[in-house]
Amino acid sequence: MSGTDPHSRLISIAMTTYPHLLSPLKIGRATVPNRMVMGAMHTRLETLDRPHERLAAFYAARARGEIGLILTGGYSPVPEGVMDEGGLVLNHRDQLAEHRLITSAVKNAGGQIVLQILHAGRYAKVAECVSPSPGKARINVFPPRPLSTAEVWSTIESFAITSALAQEAGYAGVEIMGSEGYLINEFTAAITNQRDDEFGGSFEGRIRFPIEIVREVRARVNPEFMVIYRISSIDLMEGGMTGREIAEFARQVEQAGADMINTGVGWHESSVPTIAASVPRAAWGDAVRNIKQAVSIPVMASNRINAPEVAEQLIATGSADLVSMARPLLADPDFAKKTRLGKADEINTCIACNQACLDRIFTDRIATCLVNPRAGREIEFDDGLSNRPRRVAVIGGGPAGMAFAVNAAQRGHQVTLFEAGQELGGQLNMARQVPGKNEFNEMLRYFRVSLQRAGSVVRLNTRITPAELAEGHFDEIVIATGVSPRTPEIPGINHPKVLSYVDVLTKRVQVGQRVAIIGAGGIGFDVAEFLVGDAQESLSTTAFMSAWGVDTSIKSPGGLAPAASHPPRRTIHMFQRKSESLGKNLGKSTGWILKAKLRKAGVAMTGGATYDAIDDVGLHYTVNGERRVAEVDHVILCAGQNSNRELYDALQQRGVTTHLIGGADVATELDALRAIDQATRLAVSF
Ligand code: NAP
Ligand code: SF4
Repeated sequence: MSGTDPHSRLISIAMTTYPHLLSPLKIGRATVPNRMVMGAMHTRLETLDRPHERLAAFYAARARGEIGLILTGGYSPVPEGVMDEGGLVLNHRDQLAEHRLITSAVKNAGGQIVLQILHAGRYAKVAECVSPSPGKARINVFPPRPLSTAEVWSTIESFAITSALAQEAGYAGVEIMGSEGYLINEFTAAITNQRDDEFGGSFEGRIRFPIEIVREVRARVNPEFMVIYRISSIDLMEGGMTGREIAEFARQVEQAGADMINTGVGWHESSVPTIAASVPRAAWGDAVRNIKQAVSIPVMASNRINAPEVAEQLIATGSADLVSMARPLLADPDFAKKTRLGKADEINTCIACNQACLDRIFTDRIATCLVNPRAGREIEFDDGLSNRPRRVAVIGGGPAGMAFAVNAAQRGHQVTLFEAGQELGGQLNMARQVPGKNEFNEMLRYFRVSLQRAGSVVRLNTRITPAELAEGHFDEIVIATGVSPRTPEIPGINHPKVLSYVDVLTKRVQVGQRVAIIGAGGIGFDVAEFLVGDAQESLSTTAFMSAWGVDTSIKSPGGLAPAASHPPRRTIHMFQRKSESLGKNLGKSTGWILKAKLRKAGVAMTGGATYDAIDDVGLHYTVNGERRVAEVDHVILCAGQNSNRELYDALQQRGVTTHLIGGADVATELDALRAIDQATRLAVSF
């Protein structure tokens, strides 16, 4: 290969841009080809038919994408430690054949895979759950049973047995999950460990359980087999460890025989966000550095690392040796390969929305990805070239139109995308204005670059007519014309103080100090956050830590500090007609963050409202039979949307066959997840 051809040039640019990220590393006696690791992610694929075939295809796709190392989702060493009923356990040789399907698929794809051992402790959603001491987790309905001393010793033994089985199944190592508030973490934190036997009391007593596990596991496996320990780098729980204790604990983990330390952040019940989009990228670098400075084995950073430049920076500045990325590898299985080939601008970036991954897991569904509907469904998608290339017109450049156009063009169709506006993006252009949603910019970049590289023709500022489309230049017509805001029928709805969320999020108007918001769906909440939120909190680690009360020096146990508060920028009152609490249907893993922020900003929320009128005074409404008025400068309508179907209807009348997708198809509770999924499935059917 010539050193000057474009391909080689891009590779050598990548090598100079990401020199640390792309260099190999020894972990114990093993070597990984780069510093990018797919972190453990629970998918619930095990609850479907052909689970191991699905898991094998899922991990093999990531191995083909050149990820340096893959960590599986957690397998419990004992039945009572599973995440939920029917959860994953590895405790018997009978299970090895299933695991060999996974390990051989990954090896054949050129990768290495490590099994994570996770005992969920008092987070296990099963009646038999166990813990170091009595005390129910606030996120579990089941109270745990404290383990006897003999049971603690047998649990240590179970970790060793599972490790030996993992080695026999062909895994390259194990990761012992000691963070996020699961059983091991419950032993190490004083708040959940009040034992008076050898596994409690002093610091040495509390860390004895994990240290014995690491020792026992190391003794039971080959020297080449990687033993990785995932430590809680900051507990974010009152009564958690201090930074000094964490560093000492890490040293003892190394001495006990671990080859590498991975880091976790917070517990699942912490009241500080740790991985949502509102957390700045690489926010937890200092907590990782505290560990890195204490040990000589490699240390891995995790949480909110979704771009190669962020990963490179963490390694180059000495915070970590490798980076763990779980959701970013759902979003793009080829993350590492694109980085190496100098095509980082083609990475389909994880936007940290949690909508299709964690929110599904937390509601007993299967994980996939909003930006990549193929994730977890590798055996369902046919990704070859189409055997019947067609000329396709796509009308509308929002998420549905762009996702269809990219996927169809990649299958070899000749795609022309018509967009009436001056830029692509549709509703995404509004979403990305909201504090904490700046990652939507990456989604737009991905679509723009992919459309261009796949050879789609994009015609902006073009409102194509039904007559032009009916001329027969195209074999297929895909209508993705999106939605328009719904205008409710309220006396005074045309009053000048009434605005639509579009006026606000496109910054067409200067919004007053006192605001009423009609409608409390995702957009109503977004508009409230736009009007009172601080954009810096999701961009600057200092601003984030101060707003959420995090002591980055971790001098206080658990790393908590009093949160800073500022007078709110505006007075906001949100309304809905339903009498249930506002924001009930926001994402499970992110809704609480948004609600906490708005509560802190003093946003008033009223459910069960009837809107009587809007006039110079403000919004007149009735609640519980009582007439009231919200004296406001502006009333902002966030009352849902209607489908834009004019073009579709006109083509129907002419007898032209079309495909209807996204909000133009169904406006109710439309979101980018449904739009991209529908568009991708249509594209692969062509
Ligand atoms: P939405 O979720 O359907 O909410 C519409 C709101 O308007 C509801 O609160 C509804 O409450 C109210 N409403 C409906 N018809 C009304 C009428 N005729 N008069 C007065 N009020 C009316 O729609 P959206 O907020 O526009 O969001 C659109 C989609 O984007 C949703 O799927 C949403 O999940 C998604 N999204 C999600 C997020 C997120 O955080 N994940 C953020 C933004 C958008 P009442 O009927 O009780 O009054
Ligand atoms: Fe990332 Fe959202 Fe995909 Fe989850 S669903 S992997 S958070 S983009």
